[in-house]
Amino acid sequence: MMIVVMKAGATTKEISAVIAKIKKLGYEAHLSSGQERTIIGIVGDGSVRQYREQFELMDGVERTMPVSHPYKLASREFHPDNTLVALNDHQVGDTRIVVIAGPCSVESRAQILETAHAVKEAGATALRGGAFKPRTSPYAFQGLGEEGLKYLAEAREETGLPVVTEVMDPESVPLVCDYADVLQIGARNMQNYSLLHAVGKAQHTVLLKRGMSNTIEELLMSAEYILSHGNTRLMLCERGIRTFERYTRNTFDLNAIPVLKERTHLPVIADPSHATGYWQYVAPAARAAIAAGADGIIVEVHPRPEEAVSDGMQSLTPERFAKMVQELRRVAEAVDRTL
Ligand code: PEP
Ligand code: MN
Repeated sequence: MMIVVMKAGATTKEISAVIAKIKKLGYEAHLSSGQERTIIGIVGDGSVRQYREQFELMDGVERTMPVSHPYKLASREFHPDNTLVALNDHQVGDTRIVVIAGPCSVESRAQILETAHAVKEAGATALRGGAFKPRTSPYAFQGLGEEGLKYLAEAREETGLPVVTEVMDPESVPLVCDYADVLQIGARNMQNYSLLHAVGKAQHTVLLKRGMSNTIEELLMSAEYILSHGNTRLMLCERGIRTFERYTRNTFDLNAIPVLKERTHLPVIADPSHATGYWQYVAPAARAAIAAGADGIIVEVHPRPEEAVSDGMQSLTPERFAKMVQELRRVAEAVDRTL
């Protein structure tokens, strides 16, 4: 890929001429209209570099630049400003932090409604809950499926909280889109390329979780699949990686937050619940995530964690969640953010 950086005052006509030339040469053009200037990405193989001078001679073009990393559309070079992802009255990636909270699994109508009201009361800005659960064992609870999606939609009606829920396979994408505001791609599916293509084509908002054994670059390459369909309604999520450490479920890769914020324009969300695995470490990890520059957090909350069918050990009670939100407000303020 190569990018064509247009001059600050480039006209629509000059921009259109560049796009037309790119198409005529047989490449794909991706437009990034920033606050200051327009950047046009030329996606194709390395052969595009032979036309560098031709593009530089065109009216309105300031310069061209080859993009050296394997991810292109996800890179800050292509899109210097933060991409803002609309979520209700939020623009994720802006200064205001989002707090997505709810149970690991939707267990019953009563459980999700009770949790939705409790997290809303405590300051959550979106509701999470899995209806399709990717479980290690085929004998463990697999989720309520469409019934669970219906309960989530009812919880949204009652509370106004947008819904984040996982989609596990390409075939279920249309169904989950009917009920969810945000499609979650779970860690185990980060490199399920047919699923990534499907959610890219769906043009629906996506929360892409980092795989437990995947590098930051691999996460960005998976984001690239979704972006390649022109779907920029995409948020990334650091949820902990596997290491030799046994006292926590995963190891929270705090480094990933500033690294991602530097390399990509996409919003970055932290999941301190899966990253630590124990409720008592969730608030400290969440505070660190906000301090490190995360645009939001996603946390598991259950009214009675001891009765949870999945991830009870890492679930906060509504009271503990409310206390954590108060703490996060102060951390947000310290780093010039709001919550
Ligand atoms: C979840 O959010 O409940 C979940 C299964 O997360 P992950 O895909 O990160 O393990
Ligand atoms: Mn979970």
